[in-house]
Amino acid sequence: MHCPFCSATETKVIDSRLVADGHQVRRRRECTLCHERFTTFEGAELVMPRVIKRDGSRQPFDEEKLRGGMLRAVEKRPVSMDQLEQALTKIKSQLRATGEREVKSEMIGNLMMDQLMVLDKVAYIRFASVYRAFEDVSEFGEAIARLQK
Ligand SMILES: [Zn+2]
Repeated sequence: MHCPFCSATETKVIDSRLVADGHQVRRRRECTLCHERFTTFEGAELVMPRVIKRDGSRQPFDEEKLRGGMLRAVEKRPVSMDQLEQALTKIKSQLRATGEREVKSEMIGNLMMDQLMVLDKVAYIRFASVYRAFEDVSEFGEAIARLQK
């Protein structure tokens, strides 16, 4: 992001809000060199939050990783690619709607589980068992209980 006044590349965000139904983000920025302020409108693909891993490290949002995880869960299950893509779109808009610049990987996992639960129960259990690695039996019981509701 270049400053329109002096072309410096270092700018800082001083305010950030979603506009156009969450499809755009409006940012107030300040140039760190000349201190002029300006507004940018950025496309939604730029506002996918970064992911905070369990160990605290940050990674860019990776849609392919998300798709891969979902695909593995629905393997050999009666779920179409269209359904899967719709689920992915929902997850992405839920993430954007948080307005957060960083989200925990755990939150993404939970959103994926919510979608899988609607799509296919077996896929949901598969994903949940891998994702949560079922640290104890009660967790597995919880997943089953959520299904029976
Ligand atoms: Zn400047």
